[in-house]
Amino acid sequence: MNRRNFCRTAVAAGVAASFPALYGCERKMPVATEAQTSIRGISLSGAEIELERSAIKELGESMMGPVLLSGDPGYDGVRKVWNGMHDRRPALIARCLNSQDVSNAVTFARQRELLLAVRGGGHSWPGKSVCDDGLMLDLSLMNTVATDPKVQRAFARGGALLGALDTSSLEHGLVTTAGVVSHTGVGGFTLGGGMGRLNRKYGLAVDNLRSAEMITADGRIRRVNADQDQDLFWAIRGGGGNFGVVTEFELQLYPFDRNVFSGTIVWPIAQARDVLEFYGEWYQKLSDEMYVGPAMATMPDGTGAIMMEVVYNGDPAKGEKELAPLRKIGKPMDDGVKVQDYTVMQTQEDAAFAHGVRSYIKNGMVSEISQELVNAMLDAYIPDPRLMMFTHTLGGAVKRVGELDTAFPHRNAETMLGVGGGWMDPTMDEGAIAACREWYQQLEPFMGGYYSNIDFDAKGVEGNYGPAYERLARIKGEFDSGNLFRLNSNIKPAV
Ligand SMILES: Cc1cc2nc3c(=O)[nH]c(=O)nc-3n(C[C@H](O)[C@H](O)[C@H](O)COP(=O)(O)OP(=O)(O)OC[C@H]3O[C@@H](n4cnc5c(N)ncnc54)[C@H](O)[C@@H]3O)c2cc1C
Repeated sequence: MNRRNFCRTAVAAGVAASFPALYGCERKMPVATEAQTSIRGISLSGAEIELERSAIKELGESMMGPVLLSGDPGYDGVRKVWNGMHDRRPALIARCLNSQDVSNAVTFARQRELLLAVRGGGHSWPGKSVCDDGLMLDLSLMNTVATDPKVQRAFARGGALLGALDTSSLEHGLVTTAGVVSHTGVGGFTLGGGMGRLNRKYGLAVDNLRSAEMITADGRIRRVNADQDQDLFWAIRGGGGNFGVVTEFELQLYPFDRNVFSGTIVWPIAQARDVLEFYGEWYQKLSDEMYVGPAMATMPDGTGAIMMEVVYNGDPAKGEKELAPLRKIGKPMDDGVKVQDYTVMQTQEDAAFAHGVRSYIKNGMVSEISQELVNAMLDAYIPDPRLMMFTHTLGGAVKRVGELDTAFPHRNAETMLGVGGGWMDPTMDEGAIAACREWYQQLEPFMGGYYSNIDFDAKGVEGNYGPAYERLARIKGEFDSGNLFRLNSNIKPAV
């Protein structure tokens, strides 16, 4: 194997070691028998409640999609979410096929004050899309995306995945901001903000949301946009799943040449100071077309690496010129940046972040990559193949949106900085989480607020939303005073 291929394989192996492949094991639990007239559920306040089988049957008959109970075929498969650390058993799972199904399931939960979890793509790090003993409203069968090239819009159903969004829009020579792992859901991704490699040019996913169909806690099916239900439309652009279940996202698309100048440059960890110090100056002058940001990780053999992911959304010749100074720093082990199909980058981490990995993550928003932060990044690095530090480059179009124009609160950040880990062995949970926290704590003094979509144990929701919180709480009070939609970065309804 030549050196370049070795490096590329080694990097892939390093990331894969952090987020290894899926294992399959299902806990055997007693199955509710037909003879039982009710099954146990849990209320919003945590009290035990009885769910009449006749009422569950009625719900099932009112829906196009199936309602599953423990022991039903498919129940164990559907309750599984991406992060293997969450092994929860809902009292029932409503597999919705259309908006009326969603309305019926929401109404069922509200009338009984039954704990409700909403599953889009299932990628919530803290596993908020599944719950013990409540109702899991599963949107994964509502997963199609349609693109209308005439109006340059994509229409993604509530359970669609980002890969389907990219595929559908790229077929028409169009694109919008989508995240970096294609099996992530459009739902949670968009409602919490939506960062992707094109965000410096096109903004966050919330900046491209033009309308949504959603079901509020009262069961009403609404179309919200800039003219209709303006408060709700503002709140769902950053406020997460707090306000209802979105069954369709209408997203702005842009003409796009899918052959993009893109790839990853990798240096040995010994060159991290040179790379980061250069980046700390250089990033400030980047064009909106250029997305580039550092990550630090360790290969399975213990070799440390610093990497830069690059996507230039424009004329490749101009991208090459803009990237040239970075390429001259140190001696990279590998430089894979070239003109290639956009989907190569958009899917290259899919396998490393496979379903079932046990994963923990923390992040914070950074408004300046100062020399002090660079020093802290170097000092904090832990050579552990299960862990990595990563960034998501913001700025550009993200920064030009007013702080309160949407409910996404971190417009002045230049980058999102995170520390995460992945492993398969449950006995590693405690140690690996502690190591992630140790790494993160050294970087925390340079952060202000966090991205609620990429955090395992996010705290201080009110402070994180800052000046947007008051309006969010008022809208929550108006549309979900009982806080039915509470398994999220929860906004308490104002009274
Ligand atoms: C491997 C991986 C890669 C990621 N990459 C990125 C990235 O590049 N950029 C980025 O910004 N984020 C990224 N994320 C974070 C991601 O945006 C969040 O995890 C997001 O919540 C995932 O959405 P989901 O629909 O898959 O999750 P789910 O677990 O299904 O839902 C998460 C939350 O959103 C709510 N929700 C989901 N769908 C709907 C809906 N249709 N209507 C109402 N509420 C809904 C749920 O109630 C839940 O509270 C990544 C996450 C993972 C695990």
